[in-house]
Amino acid sequence: MDLQALWQTTLGELELTLSKANFTTWFRNTFIGSFENGRITVSVPNTFTKSWLEQKYHAAILKALRSTTNQGVREVHYRVEVKNTTVLPLESIAAEALDQMQASAPEMAETVSAGPGRDIGLNPRYVFKNFVVGKNNELAHAACMAIAAKPGDTYNPLFIYGGAGMGKTHLLQAIGHHLAANFPGLRIRYATCERFTNEFIQAVRSGRGNEFKEMYRNIDALLIDDVQFLSGKEGTQEEFFNTFNALHQNNKQIVITSDRPPKDIQTLESRMVSRLEWGMLTDISMPDFETRVAILQTKAREKTYPLSTEILHAMAGAIQSNVRELEGALNKVIAYHQFKNIQPCISTVQSLLQSFAPNVSKHSITARHLLEVVTRHYDISLDNILSKSRERRFAFPRQVAMYLLREEIKCSFPTIGSHIGGRDHTTAMHACHKITDLVKENEQLKRDLVMMRERLYSQPTLSSVRA
Ligand code: ADP
Ligand code: MG
Repeated sequence: MDLQALWQTTLGELELTLSKANFTTWFRNTFIGSFENGRITVSVPNTFTKSWLEQKYHAAILKALRSTTNQGVREVHYRVEVKNTTVLPLESIAAEALDQMQASAPEMAETVSAGPGRDIGLNPRYVFKNFVVGKNNELAHAACMAIAAKPGDTYNPLFIYGGAGMGKTHLLQAIGHHLAANFPGLRIRYATCERFTNEFIQAVRSGRGNEFKEMYRNIDALLIDDVQFLSGKEGTQEEFFNTFNALHQNNKQIVITSDRPPKDIQTLESRMVSRLEWGMLTDISMPDFETRVAILQTKAREKTYPLSTEILHAMAGAIQSNVRELEGALNKVIAYHQFKNIQPCISTVQSLLQSFAPNVSKHSITARHLLEVVTRHYDISLDNILSKSRERRFAFPRQVAMYLLREEIKCSFPTIGSHIGGRDHTTAMHACHKITDLVKENEQLKRDLVMMRERLYSQPTLSSVRA
């Protein structure tokens, strides 16, 4: 098999396990540069892709290569190399641009922006300097830095997604601050999707629709937060689509955040999904322990309230849900000690942390609430899940629901069967095994489960809490 055919077959295999967006973003313009003595070099178009493949997909690539070729593949390396110099889909990130930016931007050194960012409604604390970079967010961070250095030039649009409290708004606003401070005259607009929607509705109501269009189409950098709220708003989607096209055509920078990737935003038109997937997609996940410690340290320093390593470790160990919660715990610890006028000590901190145990314990979640969360996530009804229909769009969420009933509520298989429309316990068993296996290799499902669990524990409905 020649190298090209080998790579094509391998890609075919990888494609099955990845979402389309991830697949095209990370495997576009990659090829095998060489294959010698069991060592394969995969050529990639830029350093971003290189580190992403190394970190995220190395195991999958190795596995796929090994199953494709019967000659032993011992190792795989990645090298930045462009086959056809005229095509560079994700323009390689200019490292000098970053250095240059850091050297020339006084604002980057500030932990609170006193710059013009405030005038456009940005939180002065949300600057790059305050953002702690870890494995969970380094690509998103680097992409934002690249955009801040050269708007409209590198990744357009940039789409950042991740769960609540992971730092999406912080990064988005950091771009805004940097642009405002370093590119005087650049027209920047930061808006949550809700604000965009409200402004649009107001404008149409009061007959100022054209003014709205004019304003949004004459900006140089559009930063839209929480775009998932476009879901179900057809008129606003249409307007957003047109704004997007107008700006993109003129190489104006667009950065968008969302709690999920474009194709998972329910009822988002497919043309809009494909627009959002045009540029670069990157996710932010929960920081690991070390990064959580670093974040706490940074925040404590910001508040000029240093805490011992022991305390920081206890806090980072206890809070694993999201960064916002981590910050909440820190504020509580500081406030308590200041109020009591005592020095922080580990035992007080530990007892304060107890109240941060999730306020909904696993036992207080009911099957009913769990089913609500699953059906809402997949945009289907309770009847659909309980029905006998074998259509995949119902059957799959049904299996996920069974899996979660087992994992989160520890239901027995017969109980699961009875919760899901009176099914047999073997059906429940099969579903749980299937999802358990699938979750090991399917990134999409992993993310979906994170999101559903987050909802399950963060927003209990009244019906979910047992008396
Ligand atoms: P999201 O928009 O993803 O819901 P935010 O950007 O609002 O999350 O972040 C929640 C809080 O956590 C903010 O106060 C933000 O400053 C902080 N935060 C999140 N990630 C980081 C990080 N990597 N470094 C420093 N602070 C962070
Ligand atoms: Mg946000």
